[in-house]
Amino acid sequence: MIYQRSSALFKEAQKVIPGGVNSPVRAFKAVGGDPIFVKEAKGAYLFDEDGNQLIDFIASWGPLILGHAYEPVINAVVAKAKKGTSFGMPTEIETHLAKLAVSMVPNIDKIRFVNSGTEACMSAVRLARGYTGKDKIIKFAGCYHGHSDSFLIQAGSGAVTFGSPNSPGVTQGTAKDTLLANYNDLVGVEELVKANEGEIAAIIIEPVAGNMGCIVPTDEFIQGLRKLCTEKGILLIFDEVMTGFRLGKGGAQEALGMDADILCFGKVIGGGLPVGAFASRAEIMSHLAPEGPVYQAGTLSGNPLAMAAGLAMLTELDNHPEVFESLAKKTEYLHEGFQKVLDKKGIAYQINRFGSMISVHFTDEPVVDFNSSAKGNNETFKKFFHGMLDQGIYLPPSAFESYFLNDALSYEDLDTTIAALDSLDL
Ligand SMILES: *Cc1c(COP(=O)(O)O)cnc(C)c1O
Repeated sequence: MIYQRSSALFKEAQKVIPGGVNSPVRAFKAVGGDPIFVKEAKGAYLFDEDGNQLIDFIASWGPLILGHAYEPVINAVVAKAKKGTSFGMPTEIETHLAKLAVSMVPNIDKIRFVNSGTEACMSAVRLARGYTGKDKIIKFAGCYHGHSDSFLIQAGSGAVTFGSPNSPGVTQGTAKDTLLANYNDLVGVEELVKANEGEIAAIIIEPVAGNMGCIVPTDEFIQGLRKLCTEKGILLIFDEVMTGFRLGKGGAQEALGMDADILCFGKVIGGGLPVGAFASRAEIMSHLAPEGPVYQAGTLSGNPLAMAAGLAMLTELDNHPEVFESLAKKTEYLHEGFQKVLDKKGIAYQINRFGSMISVHFTDEPVVDFNSSAKGNNETFKKFFHGMLDQGIYLPPSAFESYFLNDALSYEDLDTTIAALDSLDL
């Protein structure tokens, strides 16, 4: 495949945009080479600036669960755009999307819309602190909750890909209120809670992690967190920015059969436009301004184009819940196909999967937390990534990212993908 125009565009971009990208993981730094500039996309396919067609396993990092340029979403956005793009005043469609989200997700009464997953998590933590009157939070190494200061402590995703899980610019004052635990290690969390008795406002977690590859929580761990939080008066925040409206209508809460106290959303809820949201019971949400004293705001929050995209997307998912099953089956098919090929190659690997999230790790140790994820062989991963890309398969350009399948992917696309892996010399 030829990437001349992408490389030229990347050079131009670097002159005026730091690193040539507006979000670090796009830059291909972990795998080497220049990033691909996309021109357009439809269904499961990306079309790049050099005229290559790629099968997409990222779906804009999750939002496009039904594929690119999905007609009902596009039509809703176009129709709304003709009536004005922003008002800074309340609009009816915000209530429609809020009602639909509240009806789909268990255990929430009210939801507030923001513009990104970062904002959702940042605001959820502020709300938790305002509500409990406590300062500290616990997060897990390798989990990513956006790029706000309190979360850039052993963060996953791009932060770890670029070797700055603890970013310069985050003050020690902020860092000291974020306590770190290991994923799937309940005893570690219990010890932290004990050592900081009465000081912890919230535990925030990706209920199925996707930012250190896909990591599934053990029942004992995730149910243990719930029990611990309830006993100690700590709020349990599920960051469902990835899992919300992907693992099922009710997201991870439904898939894991449990309730969290505050939920964060992003990605799918915006249908490909910039939307985030956080939600909880009325009693907790009533602490937010203007009802309560915890301040949170946004000039473009609840933007009509973004709400139209989100409403069209959630309406489709609400009317067609069989999509989640279809996606999980396709992901399982990919898993089994990859497994057969890699077994044949006799290479050390792990595949983690939950619903339509999946990741491949080149290590012989089970990947259950950040440390085990970091043991993956990155040289093999690079060969794998570029080998697949050369055959028109677009996978996440970092071993610390999950794939996000979209329902436009056909079994033929999956067979092509499995055959591409078979042809590689890893
Ligand atoms: C993507 C992501 C975020 C951040 O969302 P942005 O819209 O990129 O700010 C937060 N939490 C999780 C779990 C994510 O996957």
